[in-house]
Amino acid sequence: MPRITVLAGGVGGARFTRGLLAELERRHPDPAERPEVTVVVNTGDDMWLNGLRVCPDLDTVMYTLGGGIDEGQGWGRPEESKRTSAEIAAYGRGWPWFTLGDLDLATHIVRSELLRGGATLSEATEVLCRRWTPGACLLPMSDQPVETHVRLAADADEHRSGDLVHFEEWWVRYRASVPASGFEQLGVEGATPAPGVLEAIAQSDVVILPPSNPVVSVGTILGVPGIRDALVTTSARVVGVSPIIGGAAVRGMADQCLRTIGVETSALAVGLHYGSRATGGVLDAWLVDETDAAAVPPLEAAGVSSSAVPLWMRDPASTAALAGAALDHAARV
Ligand code: GDP
Ligand code: CA
Repeated sequence: MPRITVLAGGVGGARFTRGLLAELERRHPDPAERPEVTVVVNTGDDMWLNGLRVCPDLDTVMYTLGGGIDEGQGWGRPEESKRTSAEIAAYGRGWPWFTLGDLDLATHIVRSELLRGGATLSEATEVLCRRWTPGACLLPMSDQPVETHVRLAADADEHRSGDLVHFEEWWVRYRASVPASGFEQLGVEGATPAPGVLEAIAQSDVVILPPSNPVVSVGTILGVPGIRDALVTTSARVVGVSPIIGGAAVRGMADQCLRTIGVETSALAVGLHYGSRATGGVLDAWLVDETDAAAVPPLEAAGVSSSAVPLWMRDPASTAALAGAALDHAARV
């Protein structure tokens, strides 16, 4: 049975994976012949908030694949009220700028109950997925907390330049607009990949880096000891899809993240940042948008097989076609 592994962040990774599952269903109508998909999800954005374990990217992937996502927003559940969050804010507790809907809060309550009862994050995720049946195996990158923090390079409110703040505070409270000097993965030294992560990468035919944030989504996953090496050594083809089109992050603030680590916001620069597996990087292939076709020759010269195809995930059909292009390109290298 062929196997595919995707290393995903939140919205970009979730939408791509939904297109991938649709494309696989179209190509393999018989479920018995359909490749199995494992999604290794970034947990660097996770936090304890109001006594609850919140896992933004895991939940975005789970809701998106399970048909329970707020499509407009890209995260949370449709038509949920913010009444509970408003009550918590009225007590002056928590993060007033980080609103959680009340249906979403139920997920965090159940997860936190499981974790307090001794379950690992993988086990808790499996329980949550029994309800959502996402059609893929969702694995956290690690069962140990590895939380991304941002080193500020300017003062902001009660924070001084040089302070370390949680990634979600920089992202949501400051819309990534406070200059930063770097990212740190707190807890990463002692962390190990969650059960099944290394096996999935090693036993896959294709590993896909979807158009997720290359710094704070895919970069965070690759920072967990052992995962980058698994990509370097797997017999799978590793194909990536650029999250940058025409020199801009399509949605979100990936440009601020790339600037912080000194990488230009371009499909070429991000492809070279990941690098060719032939020279210690993680890619066999890198898809760029048609408007970035000029990046193909320099990528090929750097040992990364490349082609220019439409990368906009406009609707289910264009997203499935993009996933199909990634599979077809992987089959050619
Ligand atoms: P997050 O955790 O919710 O920020 O989501 P991800 O890290 O998975 O994905 C965010 C990235 O998706 C952003 O950096 C965007 O550049 C990228 N992205 C969003 N929509 C599209 C799209 O339609 N096409 C492509 N190629 N990239 C996209
Ligand atoms: Ca995220």
